[in-house]
Amino acid sequence: MTASTVKTQRQPIVPLLPMPLLSTPEAAFAARQRQRDQSSHPELWNLLDAVKDPEVPVLSLWDLGVLCDVQQDAQAKVSVTLTPTYSGCPALETMQADVAAQLQQAGFEHYEIHIRLAPAWTTDALSPNGRRQLQAYGIAPPLQDSCALAAALTPEAGIECPHCHSDNTRRISEFGSTACKALFQCLDCAEPFDYFKQL
Ligand SMILES: [Zn+2]
Repeated sequence: MTASTVKTQRQPIVPLLPMPLLSTPEAAFAARQRQRDQSSHPELWNLLDAVKDPEVPVLSLWDLGVLCDVQQDAQAKVSVTLTPTYSGCPALETMQADVAAQLQQAGFEHYEIHIRLAPAWTTDALSPNGRRQLQAYGIAPPLQDSCALAAALTPEAGIECPHCHSDNTRRISEFGSTACKALFQCLDCAEPFDYFKQL
């Protein structure tokens, strides 16, 4: 064992750092689901299910994992916490405006929308339903394999085609329709498709 290994083991765990090898997508989503289930305002969570990802309009902010928390205080003020899928994501402003519009339409006049940057959003936050919706929409969901997660690289080939489910595919471009997606093409059905990058 090297000295540096010993030193690493003695360091306390910093809870705000992502620990991809210690968590799984299932555990990450279960923690989110628990928070929602324990909320004393389930109607607010349900209301915000109507707010969709501006880039993938079938996917709610909840299923995407961008909607982190919803609270209501004794003065009936609503506080919503969102986390961007990556810092500088241009869709975040649209998401904030859409949340505000949804609250206003439901008659909430007093609300705050907070942006949380840490812990950072990862593709683990996607709900199982969200993964299915992405695939049905023609976007390959991020790999769930923890080795791929550790590498955090977009593969060059072998992402399952969301149209015909062949894995005879190759990456055409590091960037798809948005910066958080890569463009792939299926060599069997010839369809191009977006792959939601592992973050
Ligand atoms: Zn295909």
